Amino acid sequence: MDQTSAIDCCEKIPVRGTYDVIVAGGGVAGVAAALAARRDGRTVLLLEKTCLLGGLGTIGLVNYFVPLCNGRGVQIIRGMAEEFLLLSAKYSYDTIPEVWRAGQPQKPTDIRYVCRYSPQIFALVLTELLRREGVDLSFDSQVSAPVMEGSHCRGVIVQSKSGREFFPAGMIVDATGDADVLRRAGVPVIQGKNFHTYYGHSVSLDGCRNALQYGDIGKLYGAVFGGESDLYGRRHPQGMPPYDGTTRESVNDYLISNQLALLERIKEDDRRTRDLATLPTMCQFRTTCCIKGSYTLKEEDKFRHFEDSVGAICDFDRRDYLYEIPYRAMVDQSFDNLIAAGRCVSGEGYGWDVLRVIPPAILSGEAAGFAASLALRTGSAIGAIRIADLQSKLAENAVDIHFDDKLIPSGNAGAGERVESEHI
Ligand SMILES: Cc1cc2nc3c(=O)[nH]c(=O)nc-3n(C[C@H](O)[C@H](O)[C@H](O)COP(=O)(O)OP(=O)(O)OC[C@H]3O[C@@H](n4cnc5c(N)ncnc54)[C@H](O)[C@@H]3O)c2cc1C
Repeated sequence: MDQTSAIDCCEKIPVRGTYDVIVAGGGVAGVAAALAARRDGRTVLLLEKTCLLGGLGTIGLVNYFVPLCNGRGVQIIRGMAEEFLLLSAKYSYDTIPEVWRAGQPQKPTDIRYVCRYSPQIFALVLTELLRREGVDLSFDSQVSAPVMEGSHCRGVIVQSKSGREFFPAGMIVDATGDADVLRRAGVPVIQGKNFHTYYGHSVSLDGCRNALQYGDIGKLYGAVFGGESDLYGRRHPQGMPPYDGTTRESVNDYLISNQLALLERIKEDDRRTRDLATLPTMCQFRTTCCIKGSYTLKEEDKFRHFEDSVGAICDFDRRDYLYEIPYRAMVDQSFDNLIAAGRCVSGEGYGWDVLRVIPPAILSGEAAGFAASLALRTGSAIGAIRIADLQSKLAENAVDIHFDDKLIPSGNAGAGERVESEHI
């Protein structure tokens, strides 16, 4: 069959229960969106294609909350991002710095509010959370297509062990990380580049000695790499095109070449001194595809206030640098019931990097869930909700909508200094 031919297979797809809100994708953003809509009284179904929640933050082995503070001891990101950070540490080893354990420090500090945690335990904790709060959860359920009536989405077709089923919904949150739903609905998107990055968590005899010495199981693990590129593409193999991450071919090229590279690395060691504790069970792609929203966040938006901000965020890498997430980056005004959350919110260049990391992804998820609920309650299109109402809802849930101008550095020593790891 040549590339352009296609088969037309007429299939009757059964219709399943209707929900107020469907969330596609159970990464941290999807979990936050589902929880927010549920806490606001909606019926919610979260559809996750793998068998665990947390996305890159768990099965992608990215088990590190980047800072919630500005690098001077002032907390910037609150709300569900902080709730999740504390949950990630609740039953796990953690690395919350002592100065942050009791909340915002009394004195300025350059120690940032971060947390490394057990990805496996965090995934289970997220399942418990959603079950406890009454979100319907369906694992092993891939959203394959939205069903559109013009610019209105009636619901989504889901592929699972049951075959294909249609789930109707009032509002759809796309938290797939790749804008799978919005892209297929016809929302314009920005295609990202992904470099050769792949790591697993390893254990070694040295790690065991360290864990015993400090009485801290978190010190057991190391990282072992296939591709070692960072977010800027440094160490990406010369001559190798970047991966777009949104086709079967690109996903497979990435997985196979990286798995083989990692195996080569492993072969170099004495086989009795180390093992692989976990390999990622999703691609470690950073920027596959985000929507081209009604606004696209850019690096130049640093220190800019937006009237439609859904929350202030800090730069994970650079001390003092602050941003706000404009609601317009989460929607395309021409679609009345579709909204993006997490790493498929509209961003460009470094602006996208600032938006996509774990705490901001949770914040946009939380905002998307409340927005979807508000749109249903007021009978408005998702792009036409009263922003002031969304902002009050978020503020009630401890989110700081705008950063304080007093935090903008005026010749501060070390302003904008890079303070974070290069593997983010
Ligand atoms: C190598 C690397 C290192 C990083 N380091 C850090 C770091 O140290 N700290 C930090 O804060 N951030 C880091 N990040 C970024 C951060 O991990 C992610 O941007 C963030 O976790 C994104 O969350 P999300 O929920 O938006 O998306 P994802 O985590 O991608 O979640 C999307 C979820 O949707 C599911 N899904 C996808 N398609 C479908 C579908 N069609 N139907 C149903 N389900 C679907 C996926 O299985 C997944 O569970 C890193 C990212 C990478 C790749």
